[in-house]
Amino acid sequence: MPYDPLDLARRTEKIVVKEDLRKYYRVARGGRWYGGIASADCCGCNLRCAFCWSGAPRDHPERIGRFYSPEEVFERLTFCAEKFGYRKIRVSGNEPTIGREHLLRLLELADETRYTFILESNGALIDRDLAKKLSGFEHLHVRVSLKGTNPEEFSHLTGAIPEGFNLQLRGLGNLVDAGVPCHAAVMVSFSREEDLERLRQDLAEIDPALADVEEEYVILYPHVVERLRRAGLRPRVTCATDRKPTKTR
Ligand code: SF4
Repeated sequence: MPYDPLDLARRTEKIVVKEDLRKYYRVARGGRWYGGIASADCCGCNLRCAFCWSGAPRDHPERIGRFYSPEEVFERLTFCAEKFGYRKIRVSGNEPTIGREHLLRLLELADETRYTFILESNGALIDRDLAKKLSGFEHLHVRVSLKGTNPEEFSHLTGAIPEGFNLQLRGLGNLVDAGVPCHAAVMVSFSREEDLERLRQDLAEIDPALADVEEEYVILYPHVVERLRRAGLRPRVTCATDRKPTKTR
């Protein structure tokens, strides 16, 4: 039975948010993404993508992780960034826009530093109010990761109602309207070329700059392979853990 991403967000928030505290399962780690970035991995998401690499922190956030204040997360992120000489920090792992108060406080702290904060989101919860608040930060860039190229593909890949895809596009539109620096990434491993091209045109109608999408490919971690098998999904292009996209058929 398809679920509503907004409803799942409300249910998840009850588990992973306590006032301005948010549940994380790893704070913090270094990594080579974005040319080097310190990351904190939060628990809980409002989608259930079949290609997702997050296991128990997504599906059983009640069993894993602990609550952190924005100050604690900030301190650990900047400690990690200092140690490795990074200029960027982020929250990753699941959906950081669940727990708005926590996120906004974390962004406030980051904005007082020289670090750029990369907000990685599926965009479905970025309404006008949140976009307006995000527009107040100077060191923020939002990466909205679209799950497929159209509502039907989105539903197939996430198990959610097709309308969830429009929430993602609306989130991007709200960011553009509010003047928040952002770009779209698209999971294209399961998409046809012509559907991706149509999506580029739809994105260009929101803002011509959005048509320049970042293409994402499913990474074949063993638990992801098992998830795909259970969902009966066969990717067209995949990424081994060395991150080089490969056509599978
Ligand atoms: S939106 Fe991201 S974290 Fe959430 S299920 Fe999809 S891939 Fe996983």
